[in-house]
Amino acid sequence: MSPEQLAPVHVVGGGLAGSEAAWQIAERGVPVVLHEMRPERKTPAHQTHGLAELVCSNSFRSDDAMNNAVGLLHAELRRCGSLILRCGDAHRLPAGGALAVDRHGFSDAVTAALESHPLVEIRREEIAGLPPGEWDSVILATGPLTSPALAEAIARLGGEDGLAFFDAIAPIIYRESIDFSTAWFQSRYDKGGGKDYINCPLNREQYEAFIDALLAGEKTEFREWEKDTPYFEGCLPIEVMAERGRETLRYGPMKPVGLIDPATGREAYAVVQLRQDNALATLFNMVGFQTKLKYGEQLRIFRMIPGLEQAEFARLGGVHRNTFINSPKLLDGFLRLKNEPRLRLAGQITGVEGYVESAAVGLLAGRFAAAERRGEEPLLPPETTALGGLLNHITGGADAETFQPMNINFGLLPPLEPQPGQKRLKKRDRKPALAQRALEDLDRWLAEEPAVSATAVT
Ligand SMILES: Cc1cc2nc3c(=O)[nH]c(=O)nc-3n(C[C@H](O)[C@H](O)[C@H](O)COP(=O)(O)OP(=O)(O)OC[C@H]3O[C@@H](n4cnc5c(N)ncnc54)[C@H](O)[C@@H]3O)c2cc1C
Repeated sequence: MSPEQLAPVHVVGGGLAGSEAAWQIAERGVPVVLHEMRPERKTPAHQTHGLAELVCSNSFRSDDAMNNAVGLLHAELRRCGSLILRCGDAHRLPAGGALAVDRHGFSDAVTAALESHPLVEIRREEIAGLPPGEWDSVILATGPLTSPALAEAIARLGGEDGLAFFDAIAPIIYRESIDFSTAWFQSRYDKGGGKDYINCPLNREQYEAFIDALLAGEKTEFREWEKDTPYFEGCLPIEVMAERGRETLRYGPMKPVGLIDPATGREAYAVVQLRQDNALATLFNMVGFQTKLKYGEQLRIFRMIPGLEQAEFARLGGVHRNTFINSPKLLDGFLRLKNEPRLRLAGQITGVEGYVESAAVGLLAGRFAAAERRGEEPLLPPETTALGGLLNHITGGADAETFQPMNINFGLLPPLEPQPGQKRLKKRDRKPALAQRALEDLDRWLAEEPAVSATAVT
């Protein structure tokens, strides 16, 4: 079918995710209408009219595909023909091993590529509610600062707990980096599975030193427009709880009761609990440890906890103004709302975090929507790839009850199992081996994709 015979896919939001989604759709020979509310309506953080504006840092983080998960995601996106990576590479600035970009050159290049694509129409308008019913394929990619009218409409669709307006992220640790000569598995009073949590014990002296460090630690300030973000009492940052009284944590998230330290046969003075964070059981989050401490301070202070001295963090904690849905509950595996499948979501609103992760989900949403429009079966990326691991996490791997935004990390990929007769890989060889497997599997997936119609324009 020629593009003129296909109805357009509508993409709402021309940020990192929406721009990538629109490009992927158009490159598959499907017309797309991209609706971006700026400059007609501003967000508190964006400064320009440009598409794919970087609102803060100009870095896409590490570009090391073999040792860093976001570097692997860059490599996968390049192989998938990502517009965001192509423009990022073209406007790269010196930044050691990181991919940093000239933000204006980058955004101008994305804008120009989309404006000049014959299958892309850009409309500068706010979609101030649910998209009209006659739009049968829509991607909502309106980001952490989705306009209130649309956010309210999404909240109504998602039901109670379906949409959050701020995040409360507790740090997440790779299980393999926890010292189990100190930490142990046990649920409080052996409830549930009996061994659902990892526990790290502190004696009185360790607890007091930990509280001192929390109180003195350097914190990140809220931005002016974030200041009226309400904390729910259940989501107070750990250091705010410590400020309320030195014992508050021992009666809150660091409560030791019902947990017997096998090393002493008694309850410890205080305990830090970690709960499984993904179905693969490679990641554990520090329960109740959402924090505004600066990243360096989190590493220093949380490694004071016995059992976590060598902890490696898949992501650090934070509390920010955000807008994200409970994706594991609301989305199907192809990013469609289960109760309104004409609507897909993409980008940070799906509960991924970061420029590159948002673009990655935009790329997948765009490819799925284009395949559907062309009457093809959309193909899921292998779960061994960074794209697949991220998608799998937000649409099923993460626990809906405690869902919080996630960066890409190697803990989202299934671990490598040694073949019979083979030894376990040394720690330093594991990431390159995971990356190698990911890139090989990605290439196989890309080779399976039906050839793009000759009508697609590049
Ligand atoms: C203050 C702040 C600082 C950040 N700093 C960083 C950082 O340093 N590094 C990092 O990796 N990530 C950062 N993030 C996260 C960052 O926003 C995302 O990584 C990324 O921009 C998300 O991409 P997105 O496409 O989902 O949303 P966005 O890039 O925000 O794009 C969403 C677009 O939708 C438009 N829009 C919203 N509502 C509507 C509507 N109703 N109709 C039409 N258009 C609409 C907006 O104008 C915007 O252009 C930051 C976020 C914030 C809020």
